Amino acid sequence: MECLYTALILIVAAAIIMILAKHIASHTFKCKHCSKEFSITWSKVVVTEHSGNEYMLLCPYCKTKDWCIEQPKK
Ligand SMILES: [Zn+2]
Repeated sequence: MECLYTALILIVAAAIIMILAKHIASHTFKCKHCSKEFSITWSKVVVTEHSGNEYMLLCPYCKTKDWCIEQPKK
């Protein structure tokens, strides 16, 4: 029985992480080097190191890996 609860908690936790990541991925990120905005996939959000609204991302325009700022939705 306990193993069922553990599985349930894991599924709920995974669902919450997915919803949050999808929400974050609906925003764009701004590169500090070239000031261009780009978007990333939700699965990338999960594996990306972040601090507050800044994410360690590789800019697709200038290929610089640095902290990119999450932009508020327009
Ligand atoms: Zn850039």
